[in-house]
Formats: sequence, C-alpha cells, structure tokens
Amino acid sequence: MSTSCFRDWGAFKPIVSFASGGIQWKNGVGEVTSSIGYSFTQNPSPRLTVFYTQTRPGTEEKRDLNYFIELATVPCRFGGFQYWFICPAVKNGVSCHRRVMKLYLPPGAVYFACRCCYELTYRSCQEHDGRLAKLAKNPLAVYALMNSPNPRDQLKACKAALIAKGIL
Ligand SMILES: [Zn+2]
Repeated sequence: MSTSCFRDWGAFKPIVSFASGGIQWKNGVGEVTSSIGYSFTQNPSPRLTVFYTQTRPGTEEKRDLNYFIELATVPCRFGGFQYWFICPAVKNGVSCHRRVMKLYLPPGAVYFACRCCYELTYRSCQEHDGRLAKLAKNPLAVYALMNSPNPRDQLKACKAALIAKGIL
C-alpha cells in the first residue's frame, strides 16, 4: 500500500458552511469504496460529528463509529476564517491536537487522524515543519508568498504566519 492511495482515498475537504450530509470516496471505476455521514454544529464549539461503519480487516465483523472532531477557526488572508480539523488522535496517552486540513482513515484503521499520526509521510512531516518554521522567521518571504497567485504559496504563508504568532 502506497501513501498515494491514502491520499486519494482519505482526503477530507475542509468544512465551510453545511450542516449535515455524507461524503463518498470512489475508486478508479466509480464504485463507492467507502462513505461517511457527518453533522456539523457550532455548539458548544465548532465540531464535526462523523458516523460510519467499519469492517474489521479479514473478517465480516462490523463496528459502528460515531464521534466528533473539533474544528479550529483559522483567520484567512482577506478576513473571515476557515475551519481546520483538530486531529482527535491520542497516541501513547498524548493528544495530537494538530491543526490540519486533511484527516485520513487508512484501510483497517478505526479513527480519522492526521497524516503525522498515521505516519503516512512521517519524514516529510518533519521536513515540512522545519521549512515552515524557517519561513516563519522571515516576514518578508511570508509577505511575498501571501501575494503569490498560487494558493499553495498562500497556504504556506498562512501556516508560517500562524507559526510566527505561536498559534500553530
Ligand atoms: Zn494527529
């Protein structure tokens, strides 16, 4: 299993305004391979409740999951804000709490978690953070990226700015 299959399979779009619904993931020939239901509430804090049925690998044993994922509001470049997930995973008794734009549910896994928790691309996580930390110390470079027409650059600048402010 390659990490690219997790990426295609588990990419989870950030939630903006809807209240409830479902998300389906399809394979190459358009068959639905997995689906979840969700509901979004603002009270007592922004959160996304997800529900899905998980089949234990190699068995027919099914398990119904229903839990919530807290959302963080992260300010955007032109005012307003965007929701980011707060990774709900607990590893070795320590909560992850990373703010992420994607959560993953690799085949056989039970709960959604960020890619660092699943160590999908552990090394690149480290390198990525290092690069962003370096960028955060260079306000001019952050400013230049913010004005880039490339949304990826803008996102990088946004993350670096949050690191500089000690939020991320
Ligand atoms: Zn995590």
